[in-house]
Amino acid sequence: MMTDLKSMNLTEMSAFFHAMGEPAFRAKQVFQWLHRGARSFQEMTNLSKPLREKLEQSCVITVPAVERRQVDTKDGTVKYLWRLGDESCIETVLMRYHHGNTVCISSQVGCRMGCAFCASTLGGKVRDLTPAEMLDQVLFTQLDSGAAVSNIVLMGIGEPLDNFDAVLRFLGLVNDPQGLKIGMRHISLSTCGLVEKIDKLAQHRLQLTLSVSLHAPDDETRSRLMPVNRTVGVERLLDACRRYFEDTGRRISYEYALIDGVNDADWQADMLARHLKGTGSHVNLIPLNHVQESPLKPSRRVAEFQKRLTGQGITATVRRKLGGEIDASCGQLRRRAMETAGGAAVRAETGLMDMCRPKRRGKEGDSYDTCVGSDR
Ligand code: SAH
Repeated sequence: MMTDLKSMNLTEMSAFFHAMGEPAFRAKQVFQWLHRGARSFQEMTNLSKPLREKLEQSCVITVPAVERRQVDTKDGTVKYLWRLGDESCIETVLMRYHHGNTVCISSQVGCRMGCAFCASTLGGKVRDLTPAEMLDQVLFTQLDSGAAVSNIVLMGIGEPLDNFDAVLRFLGLVNDPQGLKIGMRHISLSTCGLVEKIDKLAQHRLQLTLSVSLHAPDDETRSRLMPVNRTVGVERLLDACRRYFEDTGRRISYEYALIDGVNDADWQADMLARHLKGTGSHVNLIPLNHVQESPLKPSRRVAEFQKRLTGQGITATVRRKLGGEIDASCGQLRRRAMETAGGAAVRAETGLMDMCRPKRRGKEGDSYDTCVGSDR
């Protein structure tokens, strides 16, 4: 088993080098190299040659390959499909906002949450990403695009709280002063609402923004859209959100994708307003991105729904679409790549890795739409 040094924090790396009989400053040197995107130990010229060779034999450095890169020429959004060491593919999106460059990263290969409107979950979950593979998305997006990243959102493929330990470790890594040094207040984590994990996260008292994908104020609709709701329910979820705010002092942001005739009625806006009254929470209304395989359609009442919320004292903004001409929403690039390779039938157990090898390559300059990103 090769050691994945990039997934280690500085303390662990120090212990690793100590055990090798190396001085403590080696850990810092290697940590810095890895967090600058070094692709091999040979690049680490301030290490002795014998040490580099020793590391090469026992450690792995993950380097994702650009499988596809789609650039929106109008707003500069770049969507990456990366191929990982085991041939799995994941997506990362670089968005240019006035407050800085934001990357939206994936936390798992696929997803097992089964939300009805989401393309990422259609083939199920293949595996969790390692902390290094999450960090790589930030590092190599920066290196490839030349854009310095100041914000991170965990809103790509996967459910971050379903990969809790690795995500927490990743947060520690990007936050490290010896690494990218991205402050927690510049990080958003989006969850479908795993209540126990929200409580667990609260205990870490991180200053990140927690976004909860609510999408419906009533159990009937929410359970229909999001299987995770069938065991928990809206009330218990909102209770957890309240506790989260009490423990961390950080207000929750709610995501709400408006779907025609499903969750866009006036009574649902009113119920949502009642739920959130006095919490100071913000609602992020997302015009639904149509997913090819889904019968769900975007709502035609976005402005009315927003007005109804704001009329009741709830702050609600409509998420700006980046990427111009609409082509693919969250998780769709990976899915289309899989389909091109292996036909439309996608089964999680039959090695998505193989099906993920596209025969056709996207050309640069392709436009697309993304459902990811944060407006604030
Ligand atoms: N698993 C996490 C994060 C990934 S999805 C979560 O559920 O929050 C990021 C956001 O995009 C979520 O709010 C998700 O519900 C939303 N989303 C997924 N598919 C969408 C679609 N087709 N249109 C609009 N929003 C979508």
